Amino acid sequence: MALAPVTAPPASVDGFVKQFLENLNLERGVMLSSSSANDQYMALANTVRDYLIARWLEDQRRQKVAQAKGVCYLSAEYLLGRQLDNNLLATRLTEIATDALAQCGIDLDELRQQEVEPGLGNGGLGRLAACFIDSLATLSVPSIGYGIRYEYGIFRQTFENGEQIEQPDAWLTLGSPWEFPHPENAQTVSFGGHTETYEVDHEGEKVTRSRWIPSWNVQAVPYNYMVPGYHNGRVNTLRLWRSVATNSFDLSGFNSGDYEEAVRAQTYAETISKVLYPEDSTPQGKELRLQQQYFFVAASIGDFLDHMLAPGYDLTNLPNRVIFQLNDTHPVIAVPELMRVLVDEKGMEWDAAWAITQQCFAYTCHTLLPEALEVWSVDLLGRLLPRHLEIIYRINDEFLLAVRKRFGDDEMRIRNMSIISEHPNRSVRMAYLATVAGAKVNGVAELHSQLLRERVLPDFDEFYPGKFTNVTNGVTPRRFIRLANPGLANLITEALGAGWTVDLERLRGLEAFAEDPEFRAQFAEVKAANKRVLSEVLLARDGFELSEDHLLDVMVKRLHEYKRQMLKVLHIVTSYESIVSGRVKASDMQARTFIFGAKAAPGYAMAKRIIHLINAVGSVVNNDPRVEGKLKVIFPPNYNVTLAERVVPAADLSEQISLAGKEASGTGNMKFALNGALTIGTDDGANVEIRQLVGDDNFFLFGMAEPEVEALWAKGYKPAEFYQADESLRRALDLIASGAFSGGDRSVFEPIVSNLLYDDRFMVLADYATYIEAQAKVDLAYADQDAWTKAAILNVARSGFFSSDRSIRDYIERIWHTPPAL
Ligand SMILES: *Cc1c(COP(=O)(O)O)cnc(C)c1O
Repeated sequence: MALAPVTAPPASVDGFVKQFLENLNLERGVMLSSSSANDQYMALANTVRDYLIARWLEDQRRQKVAQAKGVCYLSAEYLLGRQLDNNLLATRLTEIATDALAQCGIDLDELRQQEVEPGLGNGGLGRLAACFIDSLATLSVPSIGYGIRYEYGIFRQTFENGEQIEQPDAWLTLGSPWEFPHPENAQTVSFGGHTETYEVDHEGEKVTRSRWIPSWNVQAVPYNYMVPGYHNGRVNTLRLWRSVATNSFDLSGFNSGDYEEAVRAQTYAETISKVLYPEDSTPQGKELRLQQQYFFVAASIGDFLDHMLAPGYDLTNLPNRVIFQLNDTHPVIAVPELMRVLVDEKGMEWDAAWAITQQCFAYTCHTLLPEALEVWSVDLLGRLLPRHLEIIYRINDEFLLAVRKRFGDDEMRIRNMSIISEHPNRSVRMAYLATVAGAKVNGVAELHSQLLRERVLPDFDEFYPGKFTNVTNGVTPRRFIRLANPGLANLITEALGAGWTVDLERLRGLEAFAEDPEFRAQFAEVKAANKRVLSEVLLARDGFELSEDHLLDVMVKRLHEYKRQMLKVLHIVTSYESIVSGRVKASDMQARTFIFGAKAAPGYAMAKRIIHLINAVGSVVNNDPRVEGKLKVIFPPNYNVTLAERVVPAADLSEQISLAGKEASGTGNMKFALNGALTIGTDDGANVEIRQLVGDDNFFLFGMAEPEVEALWAKGYKPAEFYQADESLRRALDLIASGAFSGGDRSVFEPIVSNLLYDDRFMVLADYATYIEAQAKVDLAYADQDAWTKAAILNVARSGFFSSDRSIRDYIERIWHTPPAL
């Protein structure tokens, strides 16, 4: 019997009410009158899901039938943010749901607050993956995202006496209504053991082949998430893997009478997807992390080959069917895994398999920091994945042979290009492996891609002409304008019509409106309203209240020395010191509120100390009557996507002050410009492109350019010279060193001060003077509110380039060559 295809329920208020109440009864087993807020949220989420499912099933069927080339996005992180609002927006159900819930006596806004955001990422890299799958769905690109369903995402941050405390992020406690587990489609992922060779008959000849005899395995269970496109009726899939013990493992333990051992094995298997590593840009080389990486890419490749290909698919055509995009080096072990599957399991010749593999991968590099370039010790890799290590050695041997052929026996060059590094320990350079295997390698902003070619991988650029390219990052305008800033979204739609949400270059049309006083007034009112909303959120969340008429100066991002939160602190301390020393009257000062948001990796002592200092400066500055409330420092804990959606639309000034050449791109910078904040920033990452687009008059540039940084470093950076030469800097640093922010205890922040004075790879003191100068220009500019608003409008109008839709179009054109929408 053929079942009728699922269809979406009627999109009417009555239909929605009916579906919602049914879900409350049938899925939650409660009546409306006795339901909790969580019951109601779950039933609402289920109802929204019901509207998406028919499309989702249809899209899966279509993609399978068409067998067109598609994208597998491999990422260890997806920093998704809340799902409910995004899914309501995609299905145009927001109004209907609001009215339907009101009929049931429920406020939709209260249910929104029930959702715990899945924090399955650290920061920019994970958020980028989330923006990209949104754009892939919106552009109807045949694609699937693969990743890990961490049971605990990025830690929840709290402060105790100003110091960071990490709490586990138990985001699944109340259940996740957006996921569909499919244990029947589990993949087995193996580890350990040894390899052996054996002989087979191949066309009458004996040939030697290798195989892997692993010693243990786990099951990877897929959890599917719907990824709806915006108003296009498409729904893609995000497939996240959870590790569980294999049945056989379990039983063998039980049969041999060792029940406890069997249970322990289960627990061990489940640790693989238990927790997200909270290190941002400094990988720790831990065994469990390598297990996680192999776990999810092996499951993903197995899943793709088993379930996405037509039965009997000729694997020599694989490059016409799929491109695996590697989001940083975390999934790069997928390269030897595909080789292993093709050669050992499918019986393909090495050369044929390598030719296929080299066309099926592309690699996105996300860093320039040498310590962030992932390496795995040969020891560890050989123990955990012995066959993969053999494959890597062979790839490297053949690669270096080709290098010798081209450049002769230039041993220095060979050593520099080898995928295997010998010092300090023998290890595998994952970025090199990705570069050798990838059809394309891209950086994430123009400057970053240039430095990648010239500084990080110049030999590879020479060896592989045309392999390196750039795709500047982007952010989704659905989440970061439509949802986060409905006031601005409405204003834009009134001015330009509705199409801008999927064609962000149309924001250019706002340039003309910058000249219109009435539009400027409306724009300024939207900003003021967003500040009021933020104030309410912060009051409810942390007990902070924003003062009116303050310039809102925001620095939100991971805490890292290269991002230079310390430079911001020195600016605040300088302003504060100028008041308490009597040199500046508080009443003459432009009132400012500084908002910080930042998590530090739990093992990163300097970063945690800087968090402590920010809180300490805040509690002194905020409570000193001499300041007359003109300076406020607030640091709401646990910066995440949900908070970003509130802070970004309210900001006047966006702080993007990394040392030039260290921030690969940044995406926070784009969110702020698109929401009408002006940027104070260095010529780093995508700031360069933002400044070029919005114009120098609408951007506060300061600091050394990258070549100057390089030159200063080469000649020897002596921070104490900057300290000696600049009285204002001396006063600020001395005040911190004096214990003024640590109850007189000079030792607390001494490590920060001495690092800035005698070490500091990130040259905070070298950029201090120009930063303070640029901040003075900010004060002056802000005094002319109307001119400021005009500049803010121009920032929005000229930032359409930073839509992640444009990024995805660039990937299609420069790297993927996937066909247009199915
Ligand atoms: C956008 C975003 C980031 C990245 O910010 P950068 O300033 O580019 O480092 C980090 N965390 C969250 C929650 C974000 O939304």
